Amino acid sequence: MSIATISRQTHHPRQENPPTRTPARNHLHAVPDQITMAFVRPPRTVSENLGAPTLHRTVVDYANFDHAASTPALESVKAAVDIALRTYSSVHRGNGYASRITSGWYEEARTQVHDFVGARPDDLVIFTRNCTDSLNLLARSLPIETTTFVFESEHHAALLAWNPAHTVRIPVPDSVQGALTSLEDALRESAGTREGPRLVVVTGASNVTGELWPIESIVSIAKRYGARVVLDAAQLAPHKKIDIETLGVDYVAFSGHKLYAPFGAGVLAGRADWLNDAAPYLRGGGATEKVTGSQTAWTLGAARHEAGSPNVIGAIAIAAACAAFETHRDAIEAYEDALAGRLRCGLAAIEGVTTYSIFGPEHERVGVATFTIDGLDSSLVSAALSAEYGIGVRNGKFCAHLVVDALLDDPRGDDSAATAVRASVGLANTQEHVTRLLSAIGALADLGPAFEYELTSQGWVAVDDPRDLTLPRPW
Ligand code: PMP
Repeated sequence: MSIATISRQTHHPRQENPPTRTPARNHLHAVPDQITMAFVRPPRTVSENLGAPTLHRTVVDYANFDHAASTPALESVKAAVDIALRTYSSVHRGNGYASRITSGWYEEARTQVHDFVGARPDDLVIFTRNCTDSLNLLARSLPIETTTFVFESEHHAALLAWNPAHTVRIPVPDSVQGALTSLEDALRESAGTREGPRLVVVTGASNVTGELWPIESIVSIAKRYGARVVLDAAQLAPHKKIDIETLGVDYVAFSGHKLYAPFGAGVLAGRADWLNDAAPYLRGGGATEKVTGSQTAWTLGAARHEAGSPNVIGAIAIAAACAAFETHRDAIEAYEDALAGRLRCGLAAIEGVTTYSIFGPEHERVGVATFTIDGLDSSLVSAALSAEYGIGVRNGKFCAHLVVDALLDDPRGDDSAATAVRASVGLANTQEHVTRLLSAIGALADLGPAFEYELTSQGWVAVDDPRDLTLPRPW
């Protein structure tokens, strides 16, 4: 693989001697005592036994700490997809046996998702491409003159979908009370100046810190001002039960690929009225009631916004994932909590490592931890974790630039340099992965990388990397 070098900036190992090929084991640091885990093994993913090559010329069990970006599919999801592919056929476009089966499963998938999010009987469940698509669909469906209230701590999908001329941005809060007060202030101030409906956007769990947002309190403030609430559940759905009715939110959006279902499918669920009144998101077959030479009547309900042949395999994959969560929720939560708790304790104990939070370190969160290591660029940390330890993490600003800038509070005032590393746990992780990650971070904080790296257009890469990072094509 040839990599364009944009700078000859190199990072040499922090050692007196020239780079050596030290086995990773020599770098392992003591990690906090393992928390004894008594749990039922949750559902398995298809990614088990993936070997990752390292610079030590070893192959280690790949430790995927990037669940917040995308999750590997569950075995049960793969099984459902394999079965569905046998009868895979057009949806609502034919009377053949296979079409009837496939169309039926597509609607049953909708019902499964409806139950999964605890939707009200009249709520629509619309299959989209992903959470970004769902939020954009809602944004396009808002009645004209709707004012949207959004915290600057949101992921870009939830921050940027709305018409900027009708959006009130609320600065990144530094406490739960601060968030609630700012929201109430913003709603109150706008009451005198802006007419029309209001929509408050809230994330269920931050994709940067994993912290849970006070959804119920936000809903109760929003309701006092007659505002609706949309919940960005991209990071919440894979970890905690969502119940539209209990939470009192009006809409929920999430992605299948973060919920252990592959394929480009997502969900927007919620109140039908605005969605039925809005122009179809996509114009075309399946969204029409009647078409004449001069007029088109659009259908109502989910189909209005699902023109074109739908992603039925994606919908079935999401439904299978939802079903697995319904069945194994307690086991999934217990398993993840144990891994995440140990990760958090371990990170807090490593000198030179800073972890970040919006609401304070004790605030409840899902298994996402964002950190920096003193003196090491986050891209270098993630490159070294991958190349030396077979660990996958994410680095950068996580499509949430404003909150990362606020949290890192770069003293140089050069926020483009303010980046961090994110480790997110999930069902593909084991306790050994957490042990290895903590050991690796400890070693990096103490000694730095064991190999030489250079900065390229793709971030830091190991110099003279001997690993073969290709596999035979799967097709
Ligand atoms: N919201 C949050 C909180 C997210 O973490 C993400 C993805 N990182 C999104 C929205 C967007 O999801 P997708 O890329 O699947 O559209």
